[in-house]
Amino acid sequence: MAKKIGIIGGGIVGLSSAYYLVQKGHRVSILDSGNFTAGCSFHNMGMIVPSHFIPLASPGMISKGIRWMFDSTSPFYIRPRFDLDLIKWGYQFYLSSSAIQTRKAIHALRDLSLLSRALYSDLAKELPFDFGFRDRGLMMLYRSREAEHEEIETARMANELGIEARVLSHEQVQQMEPNVRVSVKGGVYYPGDAHLMPHQLVTGLINYLKEKGVEFISEYSVTGFNTSGDKISGVYSGSMYSEFDEVIISAGSWSGHIAKLLNLRIPLQPGKGYSFTSQGMSNTVQVPSIFVEARVAVTPMADTVRFGGTMELSGFDSKINMKRISGIVNSIPTYYPDLTIEPPSVSDIWYGYRPCSPDGLPYIGRPSKISNLTIATGHAMMGLSLGPATGKLVCEIVEGISPTIGLKPFDPERLR
Ligand SMILES: Cc1cc2nc3c(=O)[nH]c(=O)nc-3n(C[C@H](O)[C@H](O)[C@H](O)COP(=O)(O)OP(=O)(O)OC[C@H]3O[C@@H](n4cnc5c(N)ncnc54)[C@H](O)[C@@H]3O)c2cc1C
Repeated sequence: MAKKIGIIGGGIVGLSSAYYLVQKGHRVSILDSGNFTAGCSFHNMGMIVPSHFIPLASPGMISKGIRWMFDSTSPFYIRPRFDLDLIKWGYQFYLSSSAIQTRKAIHALRDLSLLSRALYSDLAKELPFDFGFRDRGLMMLYRSREAEHEEIETARMANELGIEARVLSHEQVQQMEPNVRVSVKGGVYYPGDAHLMPHQLVTGLINYLKEKGVEFISEYSVTGFNTSGDKISGVYSGSMYSEFDEVIISAGSWSGHIAKLLNLRIPLQPGKGYSFTSQGMSNTVQVPSIFVEARVAVTPMADTVRFGGTMELSGFDSKINMKRISGIVNSIPTYYPDLTIEPPSVSDIWYGYRPCSPDGLPYIGRPSKISNLTIATGHAMMGLSLGPATGKLVCEIVEGISPTIGLKPFDPERLR
């Protein structure tokens, strides 16, 4: 039976959910506090990364994080402050970093990632617009012996998990990048990864879904809910009110605040990251890469190249930290010596808040007390990658059919 569905948040997760729900004949409205371009999904790095099967919460991350915190140009920072949510989040991160917990999370992430990767291949064929999808893989590039050791170990685990990884020498990396000189010890190549142009995907999906009858309501910041028994009957934005049979919360980093309105605890911290895009770069970088030591991501997008990185746990802080931007800019000629990129001006820098759960897994599922609500958030550094799989699972939850992959690891109440 067709249902009236309200999706709160129109980033990649909300749009992907709408895509699969409307295919099943449901009447879908997407409510967004902005105009659908303010979230994290718009100018991210565009990488589709089954290679990233190790969650952020993993052995060794805490000691690495502490070392990085004392370097103002480093890729990671926590603004010290007394914030009970942050303290609880940090404790849950610590508990989730054990070898046993990480192993469990790895299998769940692998399954979700491979499903999403396959769905992206389908979308590239099905959608009637170009979103720059390219399946050229991804290279993890390293310069130090320590990083080489870690990356080769990760490659070994990847191959065991069924994710192809090839260890490359310096010469082999150079062959992959014939137009730019590389200065690395070597790299690991993940041929199954892909990339796309996120702004083209998001704007293309909005136009496509409008044609399919999805209603887009901008400037609708959800401020409350009307409940009756174990169901949500409607959603408020100030004095505006809309009724729905089913509600999806997919508002990225803001989802925790929205869930609180329903007395639900969804632990999330906004993990701020930056990107900037250099023009006129058509004959330079061909394959997306990550500079392992610098934690900087590089993605070719048509005749531009996008650079991005950093993870700042500073709350919703809109200040642009130019020291961290310098950290990104200065790392570029270290790995690609002939690429000198001018530091971008403040107006050319984009930032987004990654919705980070403490255990590095997204929340996908129904909370036990509300029978017509689905939570879909917490994808951290991989929301673009995992969007289609999440959307498909949301649709299966709403339809009440058996999910394509097990939902238990993504239970929104697992960290209460
Ligand atoms: C620098 C950077 C690079 C990244 N690169 C990659 C990458 O290469 N690959 C990858 O997979 N991921 C990447 N990510 C992560 C990815 O961008 C996010 O995980 C993903 O965009 C999250 O999507 P979302 O739909 O959950 O949230 P968002 O895109 O943030 O959307 C949430 C929406 O909710 C709306 N909203 C908020 N509050 C309310 C409210 N009260 N009522 C109604 N609406 C509301 C917002 O306006 C927004 O439109 C990157 C992130 C950053 C910062």
